[in-house]
Amino acid sequence: MLVVMATTVLAILLAGMGILAADSVLFQRSIRTDLTALSSIIADNLTASLMFDDPPAARETLATLRARAHVVCACAFKPGNILFATYARNATKPECPLPQSSLIQDRPGELVVSRPILMDGKAVGSLVVVYDRRESSQRIEVFGGTVIAVLLLSTLIALAWSARLRSLLTMPVVELARVTTEISRSRDYGIRAKKYTGDELGLLVDTFNEMLASIQLRDDELAQALAVKGRALHEVEEARKSLEATIKNVARLNADLSRSNESLARSNEDLERFAFVASHDLQEPLRMIGIHSQLISRNYAEILDQRASKWIETIDAAAKRMRLLLADLLAYAEIGAPSEAPGRQVDLNEVVQKAKENLSLAIAENDAVVVSDELPALLGYESHFIPLFQNLIGNAIKYRAAAPPVIRISAASSDGRVQICVADNGIGIAPEYHAKIFIPFKRLHGATVPGTGIGLAICQRVVEKYGGRIWVESDGASGSSFYFTLRSRTLPPSEGG
Ligand code: ADP
Repeated sequence: MLVVMATTVLAILLAGMGILAADSVLFQRSIRTDLTALSSIIADNLTASLMFDDPPAARETLATLRARAHVVCACAFKPGNILFATYARNATKPECPLPQSSLIQDRPGELVVSRPILMDGKAVGSLVVVYDRRESSQRIEVFGGTVIAVLLLSTLIALAWSARLRSLLTMPVVELARVTTEISRSRDYGIRAKKYTGDELGLLVDTFNEMLASIQLRDDELAQALAVKGRALHEVEEARKSLEATIKNVARLNADLSRSNESLARSNEDLERFAFVASHDLQEPLRMIGIHSQLISRNYAEILDQRASKWIETIDAAAKRMRLLLADLLAYAEIGAPSEAPGRQVDLNEVVQKAKENLSLAIAENDAVVVSDELPALLGYESHFIPLFQNLIGNAIKYRAAAPPVIRISAASSDGRVQICVADNGIGIAPEYHAKIFIPFKRLHGATVPGTGIGLAICQRVVEKYGGRIWVESDGASGSSFYFTLRSRTLPPSEGG
């Protein structure tokens, strides 16, 4: 508004002053021309009056100057500057200066025009006209007043116009500035600028609002992304912590496990040693008990009554059973002992043959039939493989059903392993005992069938020693099938012999 006002006022002021100055100069010039022309006419009209020496006519001629309000006075002189006739605007006495040689003379507040009165080119008198310069200053005053009035009016119009412009031009800009300040203060991109017009400024406001909307959208997306990132980081941190805790736990458990493993291995070793020593050393006193009980029953048969003979028989039977137990225990312990050398190539067909020979009495007594496929040769010890097959075939006969036992031995090879099956048609094993029967001393039919309960434990030990596993399949009614796998390592021909 100030700019508009100042521009308007200055422009009008400068224009007014310029016009005033030009007008003043032009007016001065026109006054001079006008006065020169007027005095020429009056001088011409005075010629006759001077010729006929008629002052009243001369006064009348001079009185025509009344039409010019600013002519103060005028005087006609006869030659020798003798006053002939006068005219004064106000009824006062005219104060005409004497005629001068120059046509127009400037005096303070006055302009004096001197003019010779001619008759046939000869001067018959002079005319002096005094002009009051105040007309010019009055004109300047009027003009100045007009300029000031125009100035005031223009200022008012400029004021009204700039107020209108303000709403058109500055309001949208002011609104934009306000919204910008508000947003930078509150960081709230949801604020929008008010649209005042539909012109370019309105378009600017629309564009500004669209820009705000897109910033707000990006802001929201950024906030969401940050929140997601924060959550993810938190979860990762939680997961890392729990992983660390788990790793620590696992490490602790590992340490515990290896400690327990060590102690287990130590106690196993101790137990093995004890079993070995016990079963080995107990055999001798046991043998002595057996021999001496037999000596007593043989040498003192006539003095022993029936009760004493029965007791000695019981001692003998217990000693026998204990000898069997110790033998099995010793075998079990021996298999558990680490073997340094890899052994030699053992033909499993021969092993089966030897096991059958060892069981020939039982086979014969039970009319048992043992049928065997062609079996492979493996690297190891015969002393390990014979008890393995012997226990399985022996059990198949011991735990027979009513029908004579039929035992089938089959083999299959895959992935560097041999899988052998010993199937019988015996009484079978209920599924809930399939795992338990491999535990040492675990027996299912101990009351009716003789045995130590170590046979299958020995089998398991042998199989595990050769990197395999053993299991049984049976529905508990129609026979059992014992499966075991063995690593099928063989020696190169030169070593195997
Ligand atoms: P033992 O034969 O001296 O009792 P084992 O360890 O050889 O000991 O067998 C454990 C138990 O498994 C046996 O007491 C028996 O109850 C059961 N068993 C083993 N082999 C068979 C089989 N072929 N049929 C049925 N039961 C069996």
